[in-house]
Amino acid sequence: MTVELPTGVLDEAGPVGEERGPSLSPSRAADFKTCPLLYRFRAIDRIPEQPTPDQARGTLVHAVLERLFDLPAGERTPESAEASLEPEWRRLVEEAPELADLFATPEATAEWLGSARELLEGYFTLEDPQRLEPAERESMVEVTVGDGLRLRGIIDRLDVSPAGDIRVVDYKSGGAPREAFEARALFQLKFYALVLWRTRGVVPKVLRLLYLSDREACDYAPDLEELKRFERTLVALWQAIERATQRREFRPKPSRLCDWCRHQALCPEFGGTPPPFPEPTAAGEPATAHPQEGAEDRPG
Ligand code: SF4
Repeated sequence: MTVELPTGVLDEAGPVGEERGPSLSPSRAADFKTCPLLYRFRAIDRIPEQPTPDQARGTLVHAVLERLFDLPAGERTPESAEASLEPEWRRLVEEAPELADLFATPEATAEWLGSARELLEGYFTLEDPQRLEPAERESMVEVTVGDGLRLRGIIDRLDVSPAGDIRVVDYKSGGAPREAFEARALFQLKFYALVLWRTRGVVPKVLRLLYLSDREACDYAPDLEELKRFERTLVALWQAIERATQRREFRPKPSRLCDWCRHQALCPEFGGTPPPFPEPTAAGEPATAHPQEGAEDRPG
């Protein structure tokens, strides 16, 4: 899952400070693949990113959909989901009061809540939650691969059939064009599939992306060989991150995703200058030994 919110609001990797060694979330891994400099800004410089209305809406819709399955099956209706929208928003604002600053007027908040309502309507065109009984929601998963690299993240929903088949479901609620982030979304789901296979010994049968704005579901069926290759890719990616850290060399990699990058002002591709590279910790560890795993972003 996935929204950049202030630390502590929705941290996919758990509380900062619990780290026991290098770890990587799908968001940060995808950041490095997308643009090494973006990874540096987020994981090493830890430059704060204020949430955008789109990101906050993603968090809100995810929260409503998660709570929806707390209800008895017969009560999981569009009306129930809509009724929980404002209470969930108030709860999120209580947890992170700065979210309220996203909107200048009550009218702007109401309009934005209306757009969240539309996403929920989109959800009900894709699934009938009365016919589903998720095995897990907002499930934190973690595994150690290679020479001690921990992979971890939070899965929106896991459905398990009576035969034991696993379906990984991820809600996509962003306002950006879906094509721009499709590869990133699939990367994220393969990451989860790998962790599930390594921890539970079962290759998920289906990886499902639910695009709430487009009202479209995309299914992908991974296979074991693919996941083994993917694991090698992630280990190699981490080695590349470690090399870049030792050399202090995180190059910008411009792409159409720059349009959504929050750090253009610091990026040489846009005439900016990155801040000085953070010094190693007192223990002599490189800056990425315990990268801050920010909240998952839900750009697509
Ligand atoms: S603006 Fe583009 S090139 Fe620069 S850091 Fe962001 S994603 Fe990378």
